[in-house]
Amino acid sequence: MNRNLYDLIGLAAAVCFILALKGLSHPKTARRGNLIGAFGATVATLLVFFFTGGAHALPLHHLPLILAAIAIGLLIGVPAARKVQMTAMPQLVALFNGVGGGAAALVAIVEYLRLGVDATSAEVIATVFTVIVGSVSFSGSCITFAKLQELMTTRPVVFPGGRFVIALNVAGVFAAAGWVINSGGNTSLAVLGGLSLLFGVLFVLPVGGADVPIVISLLNAFTGLTVAASGYVLQTTLLIVAGTLVGASGTILTRLMADAMGRSLFKTLFGAFTAKPQAASESAEVRPVKSGSPEDVAILLNYARRVVIVPGFGLAVAQAQHTVREMADVLAAKGIEVAYGIHPVAGRMPGHMNVLLAEANVPYEQLAEMEEVNPTFSQTDVALVIGANDVVNPAAKNTPGCPIYGMPILEVADAANVIFLKRSMRPGFAGIENELLYDPKTTLLFGDAKETLTKVVSALKNL
Ligand code: NDP
Repeated sequence: MNRNLYDLIGLAAAVCFILALKGLSHPKTARRGNLIGAFGATVATLLVFFFTGGAHALPLHHLPLILAAIAIGLLIGVPAARKVQMTAMPQLVALFNGVGGGAAALVAIVEYLRLGVDATSAEVIATVFTVIVGSVSFSGSCITFAKLQELMTTRPVVFPGGRFVIALNVAGVFAAAGWVINSGGNTSLAVLGGLSLLFGVLFVLPVGGADVPIVISLLNAFTGLTVAASGYVLQTTLLIVAGTLVGASGTILTRLMADAMGRSLFKTLFGAFTAKPQAASESAEVRPVKSGSPEDVAILLNYARRVVIVPGFGLAVAQAQHTVREMADVLAAKGIEVAYGIHPVAGRMPGHMNVLLAEANVPYEQLAEMEEVNPTFSQTDVALVIGANDVVNPAAKNTPGCPIYGMPILEVADAANVIFLKRSMRPGFAGIENELLYDPKTTLLFGDAKETLTKVVSALKNL
C-alpha cells in the first residue's frame, strides 16, 4: 500500500473517532457512536499490516508474535467484556485504561532502545514523558481497580510521613528523567519506570470516596496523552490523533466532574501531598432506626402528591431498574407526580444511573439533575432512596475532614418523608456512616432493592 492511500485511510479512521465522540455525547446516539469508534479502531489496527514502506513501517518479521499477542488479548478481553456485570464495568474500564497506558509506555521504550544513539532529543523527551505518564496511569489504575473491586479499603489511605515520601518520590522521578535525557541507557530508563510506577500508587492511595471518579477520568486523560506521545516517537499520526482526542476529552470530563462535585482540580491532583491521616469513624454503638414493611412504604407512597426517586449504586446491584419503572408507572396512574433525582456520581461511573434508567425506558423528562431537583425536595412528600447512600449523606455538608466533605448532595432531608431501600446498615463507597438513616423522618426498608420493590408494587396495586 502506498503512503498516500495509507494516510487517507488513517484520516478516515481518525474521522470515525471524532464521530464516535459526537455520538457518545447523547444517550440516544451513544450505541451508534461506540460502534463507529470500534470500527475506526479496527481499521486502524488492520492498516498497519498493509503498510510496509517507509522508515517507520512496522517490523512485519515479528508477525507471528504480533498475531499471538492479538490472539491472547482477544481471548482475555472479549470474554471479560461480555461477562462483566454492569456494576463491575468501572473496574474493567480502569483495568483496560491502565493496560493502555502501560502498553504505550512499553512501546515507546522498545522504540527508544531500537533507535539507540540515533534518537533525536525530541524523541528522547517524548519517551521520558511516555514512560512517566504511562507508568503512573498503569499503577494508578491498578490501585483504582483494587479500590472499586473492594480488594482493599475504599477509604483514603494516608500514612504518617506520606507527604515526605511522595515529595521524595517526585524528586526521584525528575532526577531519573534528567539521567535518561543526559546519559540514556537501560538502567536509567528502568529506574525512571520503577519510580513512576511507585508514584502512581502513592498518587491514588490517598484518594477516597467522592474523588475516585475524578481520578479515574484523570488517569484516562493521562493514558490519552501517553498514547499521543508514543505516536510521536513512532511517527504515527493516527496514534497522535487518537491519543490527543482521549487526552482532551478525558481532561474535559475531569473538569466537568470536579465542578459537579464542588472539588478544585488542583486539590484533587495534589490532595496526595496535603492529605492527613484520619481516624476511622466506625462506632461500635448500636442506635435505633425506624424500619418498615413494603406495605407501610406502599401506603406512604399512595398518599403522596409528589415522590422523588433517588437511585444509587444499589439499584444497579439489584438490577431493579425495570421494577422501579413499573412502580413509577403505577404511581403516575394514581395521579402522583414522579421525578428521579440524578446525582453526577451516583453509581460507579459517570452517567451510570442515566444508562440504567434508559435501559428501562424511563422517560427523559422525568430525570432531573441535582441542581434542578434540590429546590423541589421541600415540596416533596416522599424521597425514595433506592440503593444510594453517599450521594444523600449530610456528612458532606456537616462533617469537615470526612472523605466526602464539600461534595454537593441531593437534599433528600428536606422532603417530608425519606425512605431508604438497602440491605443492611453498611455504609456506602466512602465508608462513612449516614446520620440520615437515624433521622425520625426516615423509614428503612431492608432487603434487596428488586425484591422489596416488587412487594411494594404489588401492595400499591392492591390499595
Ligand atoms: P453508595 O456506594 O454510597 O451506596 C450504595 C448503597 O446501596 C449502599 O448503602 C448499599 O447498602 C446499597 N445496596 C447495595 N446493594 C444493594 C441491593 N442489592 N439492594 C439494595 N441496596 C443495595 O452509592 P451512591 O450511588 O450513593 O454513591 C456513589 C459512590 O461511589 C460515591 O461515593 C462516589 O464518589 C463513588 N464512585 C462513583 C463513581 C462514578 O463515576 N459515579 C466512580 C467511583 C466511585 P447495603 O450494603 O446495606 O445494601
